[in-house]
Amino acid sequence: MTKKLKRREFLVKGSCAGIACCAALMGPKGLCFGNTLQLPDDEPIDPKALNYCGYQCPSDCKFLQASLKNDTELKKEAYQLWKIKEKYNIDFDPETIFCFGCKNEEKPLGVVVKHCPVRQCVISKGLDCCIECNELSECKKELWSQFPDFKQYVMEMQKKYRREG
Ligand code: SF4
Ligand code: SF4
Repeated sequence: MTKKLKRREFLVKGSCAGIACCAALMGPKGLCFGNTLQLPDDEPIDPKALNYCGYQCPSDCKFLQASLKNDTELKKEAYQLWKIKEKYNIDFDPETIFCFGCKNEEKPLGVVVKHCPVRQCVISKGLDCCIECNELSECKKELWSQFPDFKQYVMEMQKKYRREG
């Protein structure tokens, strides 16, 4: 445990630098810092409704908004913020730089989502979300090691999901 849980709230801390994450760890303002995640007390956990790692993209995510509006300037900002050149060595092109989320079957996969090892792992196991995975607590994926508080949050979701099952 990296810190004591307080009222089921988890502050996702960390730096975007060098992290192979997507919208998953970006806060409402497109920042990694200070994004508070809260377990829904009054509704059951549905793995199908969550992204593969357990996150839910905020509707005001900069990358999502840029893609929905097909806004080149906003896409440029997201491209820089998500460090797509550094991580994937892909040049900016407004036609190919977009993100419609992790589970949007009606849209093409964005570059970051396409490269996510957690997403690929969950799909390869035939699951809908890491909360269904028995290996979650031991999983060594970079997402968890870089964001231990987020992992803690997902593990709490897993416990709740199992209690409900
Ligand atoms: S599974 Fe990967 S692509 Fe999907 S939200 Fe989580 S970090 Fe992003
Ligand atoms: S091993 Fe399990 S917890 Fe880890 S990424 Fe794959 S599905 Fe998720």
